[in-house]
Amino acid sequence: MPNLTSPAAEISPITRKLSAKLKKLKIEIVEDLIFYYPFRYDDFSSIKKIADLNGGDVVTIKGRVDLIENRRSSLQRKNITQAIISDETGSINAVWFNQPYIIKSIRTGENIYLAGKIDLDYSNPQMKNPEYEKINYSTIAGRLAPVYHLTAGITNKQIRFMIKLSLPATKDIKDWLPIEIQNRAKLIPLNIALTNIHFPQDKNALNQAARRLKFDELFLIQMKNLIAKNRLKKNSAEIINFKEAEIKKFVANLPFKLTDDQKKSSWTILKDLQKPHPMNRLLEGDVGCGKTVVAAIAMLNVALNKKQSAYMAPTEILAKQHFTSISKLLEKFNIKIGLITRSERKMNQELRIKNQRLNKNKKKSNDYNSKFIIQNSDIIIGTHAIIQNKIKFKNLVLAIIDEQHRFGVEQRKDLSRKLKVESRKLLMPHFLSMTATPIPRTLHLALDGDLDLSVIKEMPKNRKKVLTKIVEAKKRQKTYKFIREQIEQGRQIFVICPLIDPSDKLGVKSVSEEYEKLNNKIFPNIKIEVLHGKLKAEEKEKIMQNFLSNKTKILVATSVVEVGVDIPNAAIMMIEGAERFGLAQLHQFRGRVGRSAHQSYCLLFSDNLTDKASNRLEALVSCNDGFELARRDLEFRGAGDIYGQEQSGLSKLKIATLFDYELMQKARVEATQILKTDPELKKFPKLKSRMEEFEKSLHLE
Ligand code: ADP
Ligand code: MG
Repeated sequence: MPNLTSPAAEISPITRKLSAKLKKLKIEIVEDLIFYYPFRYDDFSSIKKIADLNGGDVVTIKGRVDLIENRRSSLQRKNITQAIISDETGSINAVWFNQPYIIKSIRTGENIYLAGKIDLDYSNPQMKNPEYEKINYSTIAGRLAPVYHLTAGITNKQIRFMIKLSLPATKDIKDWLPIEIQNRAKLIPLNIALTNIHFPQDKNALNQAARRLKFDELFLIQMKNLIAKNRLKKNSAEIINFKEAEIKKFVANLPFKLTDDQKKSSWTILKDLQKPHPMNRLLEGDVGCGKTVVAAIAMLNVALNKKQSAYMAPTEILAKQHFTSISKLLEKFNIKIGLITRSERKMNQELRIKNQRLNKNKKKSNDYNSKFIIQNSDIIIGTHAIIQNKIKFKNLVLAIIDEQHRFGVEQRKDLSRKLKVESRKLLMPHFLSMTATPIPRTLHLALDGDLDLSVIKEMPKNRKKVLTKIVEAKKRQKTYKFIREQIEQGRQIFVICPLIDPSDKLGVKSVSEEYEKLNNKIFPNIKIEVLHGKLKAEEKEKIMQNFLSNKTKILVATSVVEVGVDIPNAAIMMIEGAERFGLAQLHQFRGRVGRSAHQSYCLLFSDNLTDKASNRLEALVSCNDGFELARRDLEFRGAGDIYGQEQSGLSKLKIATLFDYELMQKARVEATQILKTDPELKKFPKLKSRMEEFEKSLHLE
């Protein structure tokens, strides 16, 4: 009887030599084998009589070995094992290539199962490399046969064999999921699920097993999220009063009317800030829906309470832009706003305090060092540079992170460390993160289920729909003519290319090539500039400034302009090599135009349009809704690619997927319920230790 913790390779004398290979699959002990789920199944559940076989069938047959022998094919230089198997209705040939050892395990006269696909060999049915099993030892014949991920030097059959041997140990596995949850959610016991996930009797048994194991994974993630949420709620935060009169004045003086969704989310945030516990909220809304002004309202309210806010953006370009636009929005309120990026530090007003000024030669300079800015501003806007230094804020109570999905794991970790450091007298700052990457609600549960959610669905009224077109190669010249006309009418153009420099391999469009072409041949008398991530910050800055002030008419760029950039006068977004970008990303590009009353266009070019790519681009043409596109993108690419696997526990999903919505909701409900009645999990020690194990495994990654 195998032991859960004994070395996996020791399960049988003949598998000892596989130890190193198993390690590669992260299988070390017997328990790992049991939790090594198949990724698909061959359906061998229909047992057929030999006389009834048709070419192409995937079946199991049951018969007697009439003959089995090895021979060598000199022509193909292969060792061939040939066998004739018969049942009461007829006989069939089976061949195996380069597996001469088979004749040692199957002998003439024995009864066996053969499973696999039926080929026609000159109209005679034959099976090539079928799976074989002796009738008395059958695990797969007549069933769904598990197929596992492999590594070189180990076969599916070997893994299957080892797992079969290890399954009796499942009886020692503790079922950590409380029985009342199992009952309520109609789940089968863990050890049965583990047995049936490998060798299900039928499809129903498999579904039940998969459902239980998926639930476990989703439940752990929900528990983790809710526990984090509860933990946070235990912290205290500064109460920020709602300065109603001033905020109303600010809103009334805006050059536009807030949409209802903007009002609603601002209101929710202001309410959150009035609570004695830290806000932890995600503000989600499609590009251009106007999240910045909502953030500005929150920061204004904080500043009116004489406290500080920090606003972090993922790129310098964006930080700079927010500094400008937020300074302008709050112009009338005499609020000190600072900008901190790697290459630039300045403030919206000149402060004559001590001799902190960096550049003493300049008479009137608003350039200060980070320390000065952090200690003297009401609002600090910047990149990650804000938190990279050790300087303490004076009284930070609100941290906002814009385009949160653009920040790397390390940066997010830095931020939460910093927030902890900034907690004065155990008062945590309130936290708001914003994203234009729309996440379906259920997906949100899995990814950021510890955050509260506000969604802005409604777009400002003055927006015209961006016309999106896939442009055929032969219409290129015509398109350039159209672009010229648009420029003559005063508009500006983005041209996006997938690469910076030409690549000889792929023939993918690059910024530098495209620039040469447009600048020398197509638009010789129009000012064109290039923007990409490898430029120095000051260069980027200058280029953006030229574009913003309409000196430059065409900006040829890489995906650096993907998020946030706001150039209302830009009316055409032309994308080269469009097939190389994801849907959500293309939608983000498109969001760079259509930000004013001018009709805008998104023109998609592709020299290499496969069917799949074509479907994706068609989706973009036909759909303007970021949420719907995000859902389709998820289907096209999978969640890991889009949102990153880290920290969310997504990487722990071995069997559940983000499409298991119904089960995820159920897991959420159950997790909420159990934590409500027993937050410390005192009555559920097994669950508690499973949770601790799970949390530990997340930190180890
Ligand atoms: P995002 O949500 O993508 O960050 P922004 O905050 O950059 O969007 O807003 C995009 C543009 O829309 C800005 O120029 C902003 O001034 C403008 N805007 C925001 N709210 C409204 C509104 N309610 N009506 C009209 N224009 C608005
Ligand atoms: Mg934005």
